[in-house]
Amino acid sequence: MNIPRDWFRKPLLERLLDYVRVCTTSDPHVEIIPSTPGQWELLQLLTGKLKALGIEDVQLTDGGYLIARLPASRGCESLPVIGFLAHVDTSFDAPGENIKPRVHENYDGKPIELAGGVTIDPEHDENLAARKGDTIITSDGTTLLGADDKAGIAEIMTAAEWLIAHPEVDHGGVELVFTPDEETGRGMNNFPKEKLDSYCCYTLDGDVEGTIETECFNAEKATIVFEGVPIHPGSARGRLVNALSMAAGFVTMLPRNESPEATDGRYGFYLPQEMSGNADRSELAVLLRDFEEEELTRRREGLQSFARAVEAQFPGGRVTVKAQKQYVNMRSYFERDPRIVELLEEAVHLAGLKPVRKIIRGGTDGARLSEMGIPTPNIFAGGHNFHSRSEWASLDVMVSACQVIIRLAALWRESA
Ligand SMILES: [Zn+2]
Repeated sequence: MNIPRDWFRKPLLERLLDYVRVCTTSDPHVEIIPSTPGQWELLQLLTGKLKALGIEDVQLTDGGYLIARLPASRGCESLPVIGFLAHVDTSFDAPGENIKPRVHENYDGKPIELAGGVTIDPEHDENLAARKGDTIITSDGTTLLGADDKAGIAEIMTAAEWLIAHPEVDHGGVELVFTPDEETGRGMNNFPKEKLDSYCCYTLDGDVEGTIETECFNAEKATIVFEGVPIHPGSARGRLVNALSMAAGFVTMLPRNESPEATDGRYGFYLPQEMSGNADRSELAVLLRDFEEEELTRRREGLQSFARAVEAQFPGGRVTVKAQKQYVNMRSYFERDPRIVELLEEAVHLAGLKPVRKIIRGGTDGARLSEMGIPTPNIFAGGHNFHSRSEWASLDVMVSACQVIIRLAALWRESA
């Protein structure tokens, strides 16, 4: 099967530029999903575009999940349905409003200077250095770009357009799924799993060309509450137990060598995420992350012993720790059927790339979906420096991602 790369460039770029203009920054402090109206705007825009592609089965649910179905080719109706997923929201870690994308054609390999002193320097960014000659897309430096994950959306839409335009390429049913609030970690909470026919799915939410990700962290969020004994500071000597000082003492007990800034690879961490309160009562959120369940347990128990140590240092004060599961390492869910990852590797090969197996030092919607019974590895999408003003994407890598989607859809037919 020959899939000419040039076919994809224009529609991919147009789509990415179109989608990043809609501000879809999500809000972790809002409980409803989608957390922001811009996400609805993009979901509605996509609904219209999917119908314009000629797809009849398009459904935008009340909960903000968009599911579209490409029917199986004739004779392929009994094949497993596979799905492709991307998220419509962008991170709240950097501004996401009024994005003015810049397109750097035939990238010359030099530092890219943007507004506000933002420079993307290939000397410090080996991934960018590797993309000399590509078409690189950035923001103007005042916002993030939003390639995370609008590059993924553009790839899924464009691959679907190609499959529709090439009915001679046989495939089983293909579902296209766009979800809200991935960045807040809550987006999959209301996911209508029963509306999906997919046997397995693939998220397009990774970075470097060729990357396949089948592992993510196990994740818990611990909420630690400090109760002090408040009293007027004028007569506080020997009597005041300050809940804020207790919380600060607790934070200093977290091992510095097990922080995100001191670890990489397979090593997990404690991350103090948010702290608030007063002398009477204060609250601290600590994220726990590790690829191994036992290590996560060790850190959870660590929090308990730090709590007892703080109580000993602040007689009369009380510390309680509550840990809540966020997501789990998805690797075990792929053991059920090795084809899910094997065919993905083969698709990457057929697209002319070397598959690169990586682990995600974070989570994905795919981890949540895997837990719900639909195994979902992650595929590269071509964006880099996520959640920052120096975010960039390579159009050439986006073309490769489209090819992987199409190859994968066709490979599931051959494997059956
Ligand atoms: Zn993402």
